[in-house]
Amino acid sequence: MTLENSPEMDPVPLSELTTLRTGAAPRRMLQAATTDELVSALRETWSRGEDWFVLGGGSNLFVGDDSFDGTVIRVLTNGIEELPSPHPGRIRLRVQAGHGWDDLVAYAVERGYAGLEAMSGIPGTVGASPVQNIGAYGQEIQETLVEVDLIDESTGEVSAVPAEELGLGFRTSVLKHHYGAQPQRRAVILSVTVDLLVATERTVRGDQLRRALGLQDDRAVPLSWVRERILATRASKGMLLDEHDPDTHGVGSFFQNAVVPEVVARALPAECPRWPVAPDLDSVTVIPLAAYDGYLPAPHHEAPDVKVSAAWLIEQAGIRKGFKLPRSRASVSTKHALALTNRGSATAGEVAELARFIQSRVQAEFGLLLQPEPVLIGVEL
Ligand SMILES: Cc1cc2nc3c(=O)[nH]c(=O)nc-3n(C[C@H](O)[C@H](O)[C@H](O)COP(=O)(O)OP(=O)(O)OC[C@H]3O[C@@H](n4cnc5c(N)ncnc54)[C@H](O)[C@@H]3O)c2cc1C
Repeated sequence: MTLENSPEMDPVPLSELTTLRTGAAPRRMLQAATTDELVSALRETWSRGEDWFVLGGGSNLFVGDDSFDGTVIRVLTNGIEELPSPHPGRIRLRVQAGHGWDDLVAYAVERGYAGLEAMSGIPGTVGASPVQNIGAYGQEIQETLVEVDLIDESTGEVSAVPAEELGLGFRTSVLKHHYGAQPQRRAVILSVTVDLLVATERTVRGDQLRRALGLQDDRAVPLSWVRERILATRASKGMLLDEHDPDTHGVGSFFQNAVVPEVVARALPAECPRWPVAPDLDSVTVIPLAAYDGYLPAPHHEAPDVKVSAAWLIEQAGIRKGFKLPRSRASVSTKHALALTNRGSATAGEVAELARFIQSRVQAEFGLLLQPEPVLIGVEL
């Protein structure tokens, strides 16, 4: 029974709170509608020394069939605060962690604040957005994120942490559980601050976004138009949550695009789509004057890593859209080879079986082990 004014709630099966729709009810569940409630719920849980995790929109979680033996804390805070930016022509938004990500994008686009519009339609909460440095069509939260308010498990203290300290990378950060392993920093985001350009129109740079919008050149277009086009494109690929479309009952991309050394990418068939990963800046070699003998060593250039399309690898390994194993209720989306979906009441076991099958086919064909993108809880792949 839920007590009045208590954050404690009757545990709900996680299959009802996650978009992949798997997972039993955890042993204990709390909910927090304000930051103060969230902070006290976390401190109380940590004082017990039990296992725990926070739940936002449940759109990047793959939860196992056995009940989680610990506390799940639902983040239900919300609200947007406008703050001045130190940079002329820009504005800052401080947003509570439980606020819907797409509600934030809609808010920004409506008021003419640019920088988030290409990420329209990504499900989930604002607090989870830095956890895997969300992104779409070449835009990432990293580009506009200034800082987060964070509470650390090790100290129980709240502090403002600059974006540079979050280890943001391709769908990753120090806060993310990787392939079932612990995050580097056990902490919860309470709010997120982004710095946006005040403009109702903006020039579209970047091939990926321009292609998605069907633009030939880099002329300025209204933010609202970008948002509408992105939402329509996402819907056509099953990447916009829709109760009635089982192709969206997943976690978006189930596997990450593989980032491989250039020499590995070169061995893949030429048709395999690939994108350069930004190279590290050349390191500077300092030669003390006393040791300088007139000879300068040739600059050392490391070939940048290459990101290769996991969807392409999957399809070329013989797994078509809509593929499912016999008698399984889990299937590859009929619209996108990278999305694994729950077509009814598939168990986590059924989804994991499909995922392992795909991994083994791609590995046998190309020698690459695809890594899952969602956070795994009580599941191993
Ligand atoms: C149809 C579909 C399309 C998608 N498309 C994209 C896409 O284009 N790009 C993309 O990047 N992702 C995409 N995703 C994945 C997902 O929407 C994002 O990763 C999103 O940010 C997850 O938010 P959430 O609130 O649902 O997080 P949850 O699934 O609830 O949690 C994910 C992880 O973050 C942790 N977490 C949640 N809140 C906090 C917090 N406040 N502080 C610290 N840790 C926290 C959780 O403990 C968990 O480890 C898609 C998912 C679906 C279902």
